[in-house]
Amino acid sequence: MMLLDEPLYTFEQTIDECILGVTGNDSLRKKLIASKGDFSNVGMQYRCAADTAELYAIQSVSVGGDPIVINALKKSELLKLYEQYFRASEKPARKVYDSILNSAQDKCPFCGGIGTPRNLDHFLPKVHYPQFSVLPSNLVPSCRDCNMDGKGKNFATSAEKQIIQPYSDNQRFFIDQWIVANYVVADDGEPGEFKYYVSPPEGWPEVDKQRARAHFEGFDLAKRYATKAAEQLGIVLGQIRSMEQADLDISVIKSVLLQPAIETAQFSNHWQKGMYQALYSHYTILENAKLSTPKICPCPVCEGEGLFVNYFCPLCNGKGTVVDPLEIDISDYQNLKCPECDGRERCRLCSGKGLISREKALEMTRNRP
Ligand SMILES: [Zn+2]
Ligand SMILES: [Zn+2]
Ligand SMILES: [Zn+2]
Repeated sequence: MMLLDEPLYTFEQTIDECILGVTGNDSLRKKLIASKGDFSNVGMQYRCAADTAELYAIQSVSVGGDPIVINALKKSELLKLYEQYFRASEKPARKVYDSILNSAQDKCPFCGGIGTPRNLDHFLPKVHYPQFSVLPSNLVPSCRDCNMDGKGKNFATSAEKQIIQPYSDNQRFFIDQWIVANYVVADDGEPGEFKYYVSPPEGWPEVDKQRARAHFEGFDLAKRYATKAAEQLGIVLGQIRSMEQADLDISVIKSVLLQPAIETAQFSNHWQKGMYQALYSHYTILENAKLSTPKICPCPVCEGEGLFVNYFCPLCNGKGTVVDPLEIDISDYQNLKCPECDGRERCRLCSGKGLISREKALEMTRNRP
């Protein structure tokens, strides 16, 4: 589900390059030259169908036998055109092949860059659609695991089964996020694991939601994404651990480590984006749990002493601790009961006021015999 730029070479240019390479087979060369207009027509048919997500509706040729497919060109000749005059390394058309392969920049568009493309695959398999055997927009750089040609028999025959066409499909598949993940924690304290799943935006047409699922399942992305994320998790947990050891809050871990990784993901449905989002949610839950747990702290009035010489601290009632001291205004406790008198006029400590400063009371408490 990575978007690729349309191939540089047109179908017509590609056919011309192929014809240049047909040197020892005059009858094939003549047939190809005579069929140029027909190639243009099937190329147009492909483009129209791709633009409206109706590639599944193009009739495939019968598997058995060697039917005539375009003009006088037989299926076997169109397959030969691909193998011998397009893909073969010494032929002029090979530059078209290489240009398409290089356009993927080492990232397979079907699996979102998990695999590196080593060759071109036919989006509509050439055995079933030989008329598109050298059509550039039907040729997609693909990794070994995604291998479309290997899936030859499973080409889509209905709208909701069509996988995503990397050159021409609806922008929503490339821009919107529809692959997400959950982080499932292990009970034994070991690193957890990621469960990837498809969750397209509500507003998408039903058929596109099904297509996203078909693509995700067809390329086994739940498993392949989870494997990549598991490899990365050890590193991320190590980073989180060192931040925790440096006494950084979860909110800091989220904003410094997790959020930037979500924002800088290479594209909306990259495995790394889902992974960091899942971790972000996981740490948000931990953070909320921590915030809702009452925090027990030393009493700020008696500074943990619990009492002032001979009476209990008015805030903590002798416990020395309080719950969540953020709510407490310590300025309400500037003056405390004099421990030596009950406001007797001749008390030297409080001059008969019955009150002394909190600091003084604390000092007396600490120095008491
Ligand atoms: Zn791939
Ligand atoms: Zn107290
Ligand atoms: Zn006094």
